[in-house]
Amino acid sequence: MMKEFAEVTCPFCGLLCDDLVISSNSHHLKTIKNACAKATSCFEAPIVDIKPKIKNKAVSIEAAIKHAIEILSASYTPLLTGLGTDASGMRQLMNLADLKGAVIDHMHGNALMRNTLVMQDLGWIMTTMTEIRNRADMIIFVGTDATNYPRFFERAIWPNKSMFGLKNEEKDIIYIGENLNIRSGISPKGKKPTVLKCQNDDINEIISTIHALISGSTIDVEKVAGIKAGVLEKLADKIKQASYGVIVWAPAELNVPHAELTIQSLTELAKYLTRSTRFSGFTLGGNDGATTANSLCAWQSGYPLRVNFNKGFPDYEPNRYSTNNVLKNKEVDSLLWVSSFSDTHKPPKALIPSIVLAMPSTKIGYTPDVFIPVSTPGIDHAGQLNRTDTVITLMLKKLRTSPYPSVANVIEKMIEGLR
Ligand code: SF4
Repeated sequence: MMKEFAEVTCPFCGLLCDDLVISSNSHHLKTIKNACAKATSCFEAPIVDIKPKIKNKAVSIEAAIKHAIEILSASYTPLLTGLGTDASGMRQLMNLADLKGAVIDHMHGNALMRNTLVMQDLGWIMTTMTEIRNRADMIIFVGTDATNYPRFFERAIWPNKSMFGLKNEEKDIIYIGENLNIRSGISPKGKKPTVLKCQNDDINEIISTIHALISGSTIDVEKVAGIKAGVLEKLADKIKQASYGVIVWAPAELNVPHAELTIQSLTELAKYLTRSTRFSGFTLGGNDGATTANSLCAWQSGYPLRVNFNKGFPDYEPNRYSTNNVLKNKEVDSLLWVSSFSDTHKPPKALIPSIVLAMPSTKIGYTPDVFIPVSTPGIDHAGQLNRTDTVITLMLKKLRTSPYPSVANVIEKMIEGLR
């Protein structure tokens, strides 16, 4: 029987749009309203029939979990990574990390760490999607065009209505960076954005110059990172005139050495501007449950990712305990990878026993010791996820019947077997 679900939260990027309408005949889903192309392909993907496997041989779920327990039991320091799951799955992974003295990291750990280091070092002023939608009259995109967050412009920049009468045509959109698609930044009535093209490596220099100009300094060079000094002076004046400005970046896309220093320049500029007007930062991220994993790790251990529990207490070292580092330095002796939102992320190939909990359609690229297909939160079972701006946790609905267990369910059984 066909059933229609309204106000469905989409778990397939960090925006967690919560206005989708989906129809379900219990096994097949169809997006009816408000789904972007990414959401449509994810929701409408059919359930693939795959059995759990031990060394590529189909086995029962009980046998796969038993073998995973044997691997974890024999392991001195497991690595729990990927962490593409919802709040319940992450809670169980934290319990497992604590029990087994594991190192824990997310597949988007590099991006998470860039932001965390800035927040810990000097603090920051951040805003929310709702504030951007209703108050921001200047939005500066730095090193990102938000393409990876397909409905960001629709939901936060060009809304049909806002709470305080701010009109879309009153907004100034600015882009700074390389290879940016600025089409979404053109207002519904055709107002064009301001664009400063530069290499992402040069963003820090440009932002620092704008900061210096805004604070009253003058510059005696003709160009900064290829941009004329006059252009930067004009932009600095324009930024000072904003009533509520927001600087938007996506840490995953700022793939430059010491990206945290570029992010720090952005947040320090926002802090300085707040002395005379209102300015904040906003970060686009949180795909594959990254914001949820980071928040949950902080709620339960007192530290954000990356943490090593092997010393009997949470040891927070975000650089040292990256997945790459601990594998390269042979600091871990088993691997447990989790990815339940996307079948395109692959676990790292390591010469240690490996357990993979992933979507049934995942093509892993090598033969892990144990493969357990898992269900997807927000489609196959209910759950919760934390949005990219971290201020709200949204409920996920069960929309269809899946033959696969949840990550939380599988990890809970492993924990029972290890006790
Ligand atoms: S923008 Fe992101 S959260 Fe919104 S519908 Fe698309 S994939 Fe889902």
